Amino acid sequence: MAGILFIISAPSGSGKSTLVNEVRKQLSGIEFSVSWTTRPPRGSEEDGREYHFTTREEFERRLAAGQFLEHAEVFGNYYGTARASLEEARREGHDLLLDIDVQGAAQVRAKMPEAVSIFVLPPNPRVLRTRLRNRSRAEGVENEAEVFRRLGEASREIENYREYGYILVNDILDRAVAQLEAIVLAERFYRNDEPIAYRSRRVLEVAAACLQANSQERLKPVLEAFGILHPTGQQQLNFEEDSDDV
Ligand code: ADP
Ligand code: 5GP
Repeated sequence: MAGILFIISAPSGSGKSTLVNEVRKQLSGIEFSVSWTTRPPRGSEEDGREYHFTTREEFERRLAAGQFLEHAEVFGNYYGTARASLEEARREGHDLLLDIDVQGAAQVRAKMPEAVSIFVLPPNPRVLRTRLRNRSRAEGVENEAEVFRRLGEASREIENYREYGYILVNDILDRAVAQLEAIVLAERFYRNDEPIAYRSRRVLEVAAACLQANSQERLKPVLEAFGILHPTGQQQLNFEEDSDDV
């Protein structure tokens, strides 16, 4: 049975890696594609685990050799998905999850329109800023310029949310993990006729509520806070949101 290709994108710091790691602990049969990147390792990252870290020259050589399914330049570094990841998951009959940016997601969707795409949003800019800062501190680097660079990019990335089939707002972690898990199980159910045990009805409801078409009410305050639905049409990040700073 062919595996399902899941694409997950989010502004940096939204909690996408955290969500993916939690779901991988709970679900079997889903592989994570380890991307290639020219950015240096961060914190406790290890070569071959979070990324294959490489030089620009080596990346360009692999690119010229046609080894990437997609690639993009993000924050001044190259990132790319090896075709080999997809081929291996197909051989094994496993689902594959790609954690890639909005440019890479568009390339994959164009080649594989059957892919299931999920966009993760932070609840508002203030929470995103706090998460980016907390992550830098946890990694032992205080790089406020990098935090603001990633924050500045967030609205532009969020504008692409319409291209994605499912929307997750990562506010309460446990809820977002349950939603991501439900999306995977529901897609397996619909595409592979895979049974999903006694909680099936609830799982299908949770996944359906995350479909983009059913997410407009949840999305509105998030888009407004990021200046995407701003009445003047001007991009304006709102850090004054009255919500928990996590
Ligand atoms: P991304 O992969 O989207 O760049 P990370 O998974 O690295 O983001 O998360 C950024 C920071 O936010 C991390 O320090 C992580 O522990 C924290 N985080 C993620 N999700 C939540 C959440 N729901 N509530 C609070 N903190 C979170
Ligand atoms: P980070 O440096 O925070 O790990 O990732 C920065 C951005 O690059 C994130 O949006 C992440 O999804 C994206 N990214 C990671 N791997 C790939 C990849 O293989 N291809 C593309 N296009 N983007 C990637």
